[in-house]
Amino acid sequence: MEIKAIRGFNDILPDEIGKWQFVEKTAREVFEGFGFTEIRIPILERTELFSRGIGEATDIVEKEMYTFADRSGNSLTLRPEATASMARAYLEHQLYNYDSMAKLYCMGPMFRYERPQKGRYRQFYQIDSEVFGVENPMVDAELIIMLIHFLKTVGLDKLELQVNTLGDRTCRPKYREGLKKYLEGKAFQLCEDCKRRIETNPLRVLDCKVETCKQAIADAPKVTDFICSECQKHFDSVKEYLGAAGLSYIINPRMVRGLDYYTRTAFEVVSYQLGSQNAVAGGGRYDNLFQEIGGKEIPGIGFAIGMERLISLLPEGKEFSKYPDLFVAALGEAPFKEASRIVNQLHLEGVRAELDYEGKSLKSQMRRADKLKARYTLILGEEELKRGKAVVRNMGTKSQEEIPIGNLLDIVKQKIL
Ligand SMILES: [Zn+2]
Ligand SMILES: [Zn+2]
Repeated sequence: MEIKAIRGFNDILPDEIGKWQFVEKTAREVFEGFGFTEIRIPILERTELFSRGIGEATDIVEKEMYTFADRSGNSLTLRPEATASMARAYLEHQLYNYDSMAKLYCMGPMFRYERPQKGRYRQFYQIDSEVFGVENPMVDAELIIMLIHFLKTVGLDKLELQVNTLGDRTCRPKYREGLKKYLEGKAFQLCEDCKRRIETNPLRVLDCKVETCKQAIADAPKVTDFICSECQKHFDSVKEYLGAAGLSYIINPRMVRGLDYYTRTAFEVVSYQLGSQNAVAGGGRYDNLFQEIGGKEIPGIGFAIGMERLISLLPEGKEFSKYPDLFVAALGEAPFKEASRIVNQLHLEGVRAELDYEGKSLKSQMRRADKLKARYTLILGEEELKRGKAVVRNMGTKSQEEIPIGNLLDIVKQKIL
């Protein structure tokens, strides 16, 4: 029987890879311009990093993690998100000794056991960016500015920035209580999960996609009704900095984000491209995460961009694939050897050159050059070779000229680079 990939696990094929590389390259350039440095973290972590960091009563920890025991009986989990791991690495290596703040980014696969559907996979990719060690709202704005700048740089438009504040240790518990009271009165309308969440995690009910739950929360109290003056001040500053940068935003008081560790600033970027509403990125501040995973009190803020979603929204018409610069078509034994020498030389010069390895007819070599979308073809025949010449054909315009083989490298580089 033919072995197939696991459900929800996806191959990214050569004809799609250009988009991925473009997005990743742009992210590196933009983020590094903002002073961020890449960090690479393991895919596997101890389960408690996520159960404590993300929160026991979240969907991720309750039902979406890939958790298993290794051969020594340790409970390990494939990372469902990157923030907790990045915070762990920051603590473990005491990066705060190097500088009081760290601006880090990482990209790679995450794993969640969700129902696979179009554009949603169990192994999916994120670009993550985090700032550790600064509580100043200036940083919240700077991170959001960077995110929007990145999304525009890769070509997204019709973006909407939504912001909210989630309160902190002082005011959030009051909101939680207020919301809990409200939900208890609406329990009959809630789905089974949400009935349970009234006790375990009432804020999660605001995220529920079930229609009756959505109706039930229509008049629910808003976090902004409970916010303390410190949180209000922080939120006002964030909005002021965003305004100063010329960014427009809307306040979405229902946005709570899917994880427990968020405090104060929360944000999402929604795209209205393709006629529908798609969240492409989201993040927020998490000033309690470090304590949850056993560290000191260190403030943090970050965002994650969903790669699959982002790639599906890239503008049409932009060419991402790489095609040969030059296809060398040779006919006869001596020309074929010469073709091989030329192609090897071109490769060393960084020219993407191809040739036919099977000694096929000139016609079929030209067909292949066409199919590979080569920009130029070099035609080498016995007769031309004896005269030290070859023919260069522009595959777009179909114009061709005879050139001396001795100058080939210069001519090709001039045409291509
Ligand atoms: Zn529900
Ligand atoms: Zn507060």
